[in-house]
Amino acid sequence: MRSRMSSRRKGRHEIRKVLIVGAGQAGLQVALGLQKSGYDVTVVTDRTGEEVKQGRVLSSQCMFDAALQNERDLSINFWEEECPLVEGISFTVPTPDGSGDKAIAFASRLDAYAQAVDQRIKMPGWMDVFAERGGNLVIHPATADDLDSYSADNDLVIVAAGKTDLVSIFERDAEKSPYEVPMRALALTYVNGLEPRPEYTAVAFNLAPGVGEYFVFPALTTTGPCEIMVFEGVPDGPMDSWGDISSPEQHLEHSVQLLKNIFPWEGDRCDNVSLTDSNGILTGRFPPTVRHPVATLSSGSHVLGLADTVMLNDPITGQGSNNASKAAAAYLKSILDRGDEPFDAEWMQATFDAAWDEIQYSTMWTNALLGPPPDHVLELLGAAGQFQPIAQRFVNGFNDPRDFFDWFMFPDKAEAYLAEVSGAA
Ligand SMILES: Cc1cc2nc3c(=O)[nH]c(=O)nc-3n(C[C@H](O)[C@H](O)[C@H](O)COP(=O)(O)OP(=O)(O)OC[C@H]3O[C@@H](n4cnc5c(N)ncnc54)[C@H](O)[C@@H]3O)c2cc1C
Repeated sequence: MRSRMSSRRKGRHEIRKVLIVGAGQAGLQVALGLQKSGYDVTVVTDRTGEEVKQGRVLSSQCMFDAALQNERDLSINFWEEECPLVEGISFTVPTPDGSGDKAIAFASRLDAYAQAVDQRIKMPGWMDVFAERGGNLVIHPATADDLDSYSADNDLVIVAAGKTDLVSIFERDAEKSPYEVPMRALALTYVNGLEPRPEYTAVAFNLAPGVGEYFVFPALTTTGPCEIMVFEGVPDGPMDSWGDISSPEQHLEHSVQLLKNIFPWEGDRCDNVSLTDSNGILTGRFPPTVRHPVATLSSGSHVLGLADTVMLNDPITGQGSNNASKAAAAYLKSILDRGDEPFDAEWMQATFDAAWDEIQYSTMWTNALLGPPPDHVLELLGAAGQFQPIAQRFVNGFNDPRDFFDWFMFPDKAEAYLAEVSGAA
């Protein structure tokens, strides 16, 4: 402590040591940012880059402009030229009679494109760059016990280990977590050969109330450009039906069959699809959970949770990587702003609060979409088919969900907005 004080008095900054558990979107973004500012950074992660690259897909990771900008700001947008663009979002609801007709259908371009770079490309790439720039990359599955020694050796320990068992050191925040059980059965299918949408590329988002959601969009995977199918099945419904699948080929066949049954216009795009690779499939489910961000270790030291570890959303709105990027940017700023002052529990809480200030809106909106759509939402979505400004606003809300709280989330604001738009029309 004395040396820190004396170096500060001399106007010199001591090199501060930060250890981050987890080499995902959030952990590596903070690590590369701190490294750029001259910090001594260690990343502890449970798998080598090669293991990640050769392993199963992890996400559909579609990121919108605000999140992509955080990567541009750090000059770590290495795949931006190569990755296909997602230029808009379409939204379709089938009629409930099973006829295959559409009850609601609209689309709009995004003001700025989105992109999805397979985490099997991005994370190994970022790990390599971090190590090449002198970062200390440790391959080790960290346990709660390890965190004590990490804290003793570092000025700050951040846990950005996604939704692993390690999250249990952070207490669940019941007030911010409305669901205790998984709300959707998830599946991913990475394909080639999907029939393109007319006009412009998009996330084609489809919603069958009470059954589930399906969205599909262009992306970059380990074999080149592809399309990622995401299935979100309401538990125990027809889209919660992956249990008996035992091979990648069956997984693909089942994906197409579900589409032919539930969203036939999407099934029609699948006549020539094939899997990108045998690891291009995933199934799973988890309850969306927000946790208290500061954990106290047995030694009395504190560690700070980041991104999915403490703010885990269901992927229904494709916000997790976006939130991870936004939280990482907020944490990076908070660490840099802290200068030589201690990273104490109070600072940790304030750092989370600064990120949550924005991300809470994404979480609340996502959690709302997991429930049955209220009347005012159905009315707005129906009107979006008629009034393009509504479609455009809805679509661009995926980039910054705070906007939904000015019109979409509350019946009175929805009514006022509808009156304004229809009046103007
Ligand atoms: C099916 C599905 C679809 C999705 N689609 C989208 C989408 O379209 N758009 C979007 O924005 N988000 C999407 N997400 C969410 C997104 O993938 C995550 O929110 C995001 O990856 C979280 O980043 P993170 O850094 O917090 O955690 P992760 O990316 O999970 O990274 C955690 C890291 O910690 C490592 N780790 C784990 N345990 C340990 C341990 N004990 N010790 C050391 N290291 C450890 C892991 O190997 C990994 O490197 C989706 C998620 C799923 C499941």
